[in-house]
Amino acid sequence: MKNSLQSHVFAECLDCGHKTSYTPQETNCPQCGGGWREARYDYKTIAKDFLANLAGRPFDIWRFYELLPINEHHPAISMGEGGTPLLKATNLGMMLGLKNLYIKDERQNPTGSFKDRQASITVAALKEAGITETVLASTGNVAISYSAYTARAGIKLWAFLTSLVPAEKMREVAIYGTQVIKVTASYDKTKALANEFAEQHHQTSYLDRGVRSIPALEAMKTIAFEISEQLTNAMGPSPLKGAENTPPWQSPDWYIQAVSGGLGPVGVLKGFDELKIMGIIDRIPAFASIQAEGCAPMVHGWKNNLEIAEPVLSPRTHIATLATGDPGGTYTLLRKRILQANGGAFESVSDEEAFRAIHVLAKMEGLSMEPASAVAFAGLIKMVRTGQIKPDDVVVINLTGHTMPVEKMILGDGWVHDIEIPEKPPEEKPEEGLLSALSRITPKQYSSIAIVDDHPHARRLIRRILQSQGEYTIYEATNGREAIELARKEHPDVMILDLMMPEVDGFSVLDALKADEDTASIAVIVVTAKALTPDEKIRLRGRIHTLMQKGEFLDDDLVGEINTLLGNGDD
Ligand SMILES: *Cc1c(COP(=O)(O)O)cnc(C)c1O
Ligand SMILES: [Zn+2]
Repeated sequence: MKNSLQSHVFAECLDCGHKTSYTPQETNCPQCGGGWREARYDYKTIAKDFLANLAGRPFDIWRFYELLPINEHHPAISMGEGGTPLLKATNLGMMLGLKNLYIKDERQNPTGSFKDRQASITVAALKEAGITETVLASTGNVAISYSAYTARAGIKLWAFLTSLVPAEKMREVAIYGTQVIKVTASYDKTKALANEFAEQHHQTSYLDRGVRSIPALEAMKTIAFEISEQLTNAMGPSPLKGAENTPPWQSPDWYIQAVSGGLGPVGVLKGFDELKIMGIIDRIPAFASIQAEGCAPMVHGWKNNLEIAEPVLSPRTHIATLATGDPGGTYTLLRKRILQANGGAFESVSDEEAFRAIHVLAKMEGLSMEPASAVAFAGLIKMVRTGQIKPDDVVVINLTGHTMPVEKMILGDGWVHDIEIPEKPPEEKPEEGLLSALSRITPKQYSSIAIVDDHPHARRLIRRILQSQGEYTIYEATNGREAIELARKEHPDVMILDLMMPEVDGFSVLDALKADEDTASIAVIVVTAKALTPDEKIRLRGRIHTLMQKGEFLDDDLVGEINTLLGNGDD
């Protein structure tokens, strides 16, 4: 079953209120140009059957598809993301004197962190929109999640990672075939670089913008849906207070998470908010956002009552996952929403406190976690000590992730591109530093290949073969005229050319390329679906490199031909 073109979701501009239908390609408000937009749905209609509809659906992220910006109810890329357990923490609860402490175990997502929610929904939306390349900056886990899902979907991924990201995580990213660009600079500069890179080929690629990316935010809200449903199963439907109209689901008193960019809390808060709008819960929990002391701009902003956080220019923490020095507008939005909802707290803990919490949770609850997640647990311990969290409070804490190292010997050399951006370039303006660094990794330096075919399936197949086998910049043309334009503009090293196309066919493309000295040297591999007549063979003779029969070439044959053409040897 499919909804008609995402008719159930629209994008609302947070600046001017303008509403439009939603597509991933359009990132800004068409009316005011603003980049902050959120998904809205017809909550009234959805609320009528929401709970009844859930019966019989699997407990995973797609369970809530009416409230997600996708059409496909259970896309083929799914690996069982979401639907993670809500564990009762009896031992830690006893130690802290909390009767109702629950752990949302997000380690149990396919790549071991809650970023799999963001990646799965986004990649599903990109696939529906026909987008074939993605760019992102990451402190590690986003890149791992996107790598897995883009690999599964046949989408190419460029991941810009700060050099702070532990080598095991970088290798985890690389094993999926992602282009890893290691940037020796802060995470904020790494993000700026990824932005520029994405802008340079924006026709083809999608850039994840965190909270400003609708699928990313929508994905995170499913955590709230699951928590409420699971808490209701664990504790019974009635919130103690004895209200007349007892809502069907529970919400906790506190939701606690370790925070870096803030996508998680903003999304989870939206989830609780939607449940409240639909009358399924009656209150939104207080939100506790915990940061690492050495990089805690949100905590500083909150405690000093600032609407705009002061960026931390040089983060001082070993916990790279949490090293967002400049949370930008996300902090402002999160603070506003927390104040509008039910209040909360921003706290920081030291790296040492987080490392201690790792031992406590592993030994007391049998849960091993990555340091970034432990920051939330150290924050919980601190908030119980200071009395902000009370013994009767129902507390849910997000165990955001697990580290999964890829062993060194599995990857050969050359899986990473290094870029260093000096803190203060001696003479250049900082922008020049960025641009010159960028020019060294622009895709042009890879061998570029144009795929010319009027059948989308054929183009996709060839693209996937190429992407799975090597590092190529890939262009596509859907007809002969586009192919000639593309050749003049981009000068690909190789053109894979379909002969049978309406209007300007492959023979005419070949004539045009050979007639122009600018394009005459482009190597051409002809791919054809039918046997050629002797006349046609004569027309091709001496002018093309290889003739391949569609459907007959094995993946390796095509890649082998291309590598010979590019002088890359046989493998
Ligand atoms: C991304 C991440 C965080 C921080 O989440 P945000 O919602 O982006 O602030 C915390 N823990 C882990 C394991 C993460 O991967
Ligand atoms: Zn607007």
